[in-house]
Amino acid sequence: MNLTILSRVKTCGRLLVDLRRHDFRAARTFMDMNWPDDSLLIKYLKFIPWTLRQMLVVIPDALITVDIDRNISHIPSWLCATNPLKNYPWCDHRDQKIPETVDTVVIGAGMTGAACAYHWSKKASAGRKMVLLEMDDAASGSSGRNEGLIVMGRYYYMMYKNMLNNLTNIRADLTNTQRDKLAHKFASVYVSAAYHNGELVSETIKKENIDCGYERNGWVQAKDNEKEEQFLDETVEMGNKAGFLDWRRIEAEDVRKLTGMKTEHAAGFSVGAASCHPAKYVWGLLQIAIKADNVDFYSNTKVTEVQDCGAHYIVHTNRGLIRTNNVVNATEAYSCLLHKQFKGKLFAVQTQAATGEGGPVDIVPNRGISGTRAFFGKHGSAVIIGSDATRIPDKEIGRIQPSRFLTKYLCAEMKRLYGKFSYHIKNEWSGSVGFTADEYPVVGVIDGKKQYIIGGMCGSGSGVSFNAARCICNRILNICNEQDDYPEEFFSPTRILDPDNHKWPTLKE
Ligand SMILES: Cc1cc2nc3c(=O)[nH]c(=O)nc-3n(C[C@H](O)[C@H](O)[C@H](O)COP(=O)(O)OP(=O)(O)OC[C@H]3O[C@@H](n4cnc5c(N)ncnc54)[C@H](O)[C@@H]3O)c2cc1C
Repeated sequence: MNLTILSRVKTCGRLLVDLRRHDFRAARTFMDMNWPDDSLLIKYLKFIPWTLRQMLVVIPDALITVDIDRNISHIPSWLCATNPLKNYPWCDHRDQKIPETVDTVVIGAGMTGAACAYHWSKKASAGRKMVLLEMDDAASGSSGRNEGLIVMGRYYYMMYKNMLNNLTNIRADLTNTQRDKLAHKFASVYVSAAYHNGELVSETIKKENIDCGYERNGWVQAKDNEKEEQFLDETVEMGNKAGFLDWRRIEAEDVRKLTGMKTEHAAGFSVGAASCHPAKYVWGLLQIAIKADNVDFYSNTKVTEVQDCGAHYIVHTNRGLIRTNNVVNATEAYSCLLHKQFKGKLFAVQTQAATGEGGPVDIVPNRGISGTRAFFGKHGSAVIIGSDATRIPDKEIGRIQPSRFLTKYLCAEMKRLYGKFSYHIKNEWSGSVGFTADEYPVVGVIDGKKQYIIGGMCGSGSGVSFNAARCICNRILNICNEQDDYPEEFFSPTRILDPDNHKWPTLKE
């Protein structure tokens, strides 16, 4: 079907009417990502014609067979499933009181907090009580708003480059060779921990029979041109040289088989990545944890302050105070709202997604699929599309404010990669993801005492959180016979809070 000029102008007008402040921020992200080396003026000179073409040609063409529900829901489609822990325990025990004293308080019931509760339930003695506090329901943060991939962390080359760039800024005392060595060390420790995480998650889901649709079919990251393919080879080679084999190149024919995409280009493939229903994963871990006598969970309980009282802490909540020996902040992008020292150091970035019925007939289900600017996937009858990584102000953390422009653009991207499809979009949402400047997580104490954080996982929380939670529980419980994959010299929050006084890993000449 050929569109008239009038209908193209109408679609363009609708796109303009729907623009919100976030769209302008996201546009900046887009320009920085696509033309990183150009001046701002040049970026705009490239961006404006690109946008006009998108608005008048590409998006209207894609939208011919896309229908956005009039009553579109901002509830992430994962959270439309029945939450067995909804309003827990208040739904059955309205008058229950939160405990006055416990051994350990965990704040935040996403995949990180749930993993803490799970490990604790398996490892702590009966007398050592952990409570998990969540201001909303379990998995209401990013853990219930994501793409549904359990990733093998971010790949070696990316982590090497991230740290190298960071060290150039903050470790002027080192020579280039030393910075290079240190960046390799960081990448190696991060990726080892992530690989271990992937195996632990897989074993646990199987062993515990967690019904979350877990399927380990990998994650394909498509490329658009030969330059990107060449870069891919560089990234794979560096990872392989360091002994990390998960991230590899697959040829166009395999990309087509594994994803259904119509591409002529090779792609990156993370073999060990898995897809699952992320909220069911969180709920499953938590359901197991709270069966134990030493773990309690309180939803709809907001922590307003953690007061340091010397040898212990008082956790202030909207339901009263809890005295505790240890605190674990599993609050990811929300952390800076509770702990001001993280403002600007562990900041929030918005990513969004939408789901609908239909989608490309060839799209292969239960596998991670990304293009260079978007992700796609099929879970059950729903097809998910998503993108964005734009920093948001602290006051917007946790808000659901997806960009409609982006949703429509994602439909066009899916059409570019898959050809024509019909699609009825019913859910559209966004989530806040915690980032650090060096793009490494922070896992460790924040006050030199017994208050911990696991955060800054940069959109790859599924590749960090389970293992990091294990390591933090081990530290609190003084379990020393297991490998600590998050050593302080690499992951302590001092790395981002006070790099001059951080105890950096030593380098042998
Ligand atoms: C669209 C999108 C796609 C993504 N795709 C992927 C993916 O495919 N794979 C992947 O690994 N990652 C992905 N991510 C990122 C991933 O979802 C996060 O890294 C992960 O969920 C972080 O888990 P978490 O438990 O640490 O944080 P969250 O899930 O954000 O949990 C933090 C919890 O703390 C609670 N909280 C905050 N403050 C307080 C307080 N004061 N008192 C009580 N409770 C509090 C919040 O309500 C929230 O439930 C994606 C994110 C988004 C938004």
